[in-house]
Amino acid sequence: MTDLEFDQRGLIPAVAQDRLTGQIRMVAWMSREALERTLSSGFAWFYSRSRQALWEKGETSGNKLRVHAVYADCDADTLVLHVDPEGPSCHTGRPACFFRRVEKDGSVKDLEHEAEAFLSELDRELEARKSSTAQKSYTKSLLEGGPAKIGAKLREEAEELSRAVADESPERVASEAADLLYHLLVALRGRDVPLRTVIEVLAARAGVGGHEEKAKRRP
Ligand SMILES: [Zn+2]
Repeated sequence: MTDLEFDQRGLIPAVAQDRLTGQIRMVAWMSREALERTLSSGFAWFYSRSRQALWEKGETSGNKLRVHAVYADCDADTLVLHVDPEGPSCHTGRPACFFRRVEKDGSVKDLEHEAEAFLSELDRELEARKSSTAQKSYTKSLLEGGPAKIGAKLREEAEELSRAVADESPERVASEAADLLYHLLVALRGRDVPLRTVIEVLAARAGVGGHEEKAKRRP
C-alpha cells in the first residue's frame, strides 16, 4: 500500500472529472481532512489556501460534486475525483473551469465552450449545426427532416454495421460503427435527449447482471 504524498503545506491537488463524459470540471487543493470528509460524505471537500479553511464544493451554490471514486496518480501526489456534477462547477457559472485555450504564441483566449472529450465536442457541434444558417449541412438537413426520417436513416446505418460485423474487415466495422454513432448523436439531438443522459442510463445498469438487466429492460 502506498501513502499519499501531501506537499510541505499538507496539500494535494485534486482534479474533478465528470465520470460519464470525461470532462475535467475543476481543479482545487485538498488537505488530508478535506480528503477524509470527501471519502466519508461522498461529496467533494477542498482546502482554500487563501481562506486557510476547508470548504465543501457547492455548500452555498448547491452545485455540489458527488464523488463516485477517487484515484491517485503514479507518484501518489495528485488526485482525480470521478464525479457526478450537480450543476455548474466553475465559480463563473460555467459548467467547467477549462474554457480558455492557450494559443501557439502562449496567449490565452476565452472560448464559448469548455474543453471536453471528442464525442461530447462533436455532440455540441451537431447542436450548433441545428441553428446554423449555412446552406449545406448534412446534419441540418437530417434534423430538419424530423425524427421519422432520422429513424429511417438509423435503421439503414444499423443494417450496414450489422453486415460489416458479420463478414467484413475491422476497418469496415470501424467505419460503419462511426456512421451509426454519428447518426445516433443526430437522432438524440433531434429528440433533445442529451448524450450524457444516455451514458447515465448505461452506467446505472452497470451494477446489474447481464441477463437480469435484459429481463428488466424487456418485461
Ligand atoms: Zn472555475
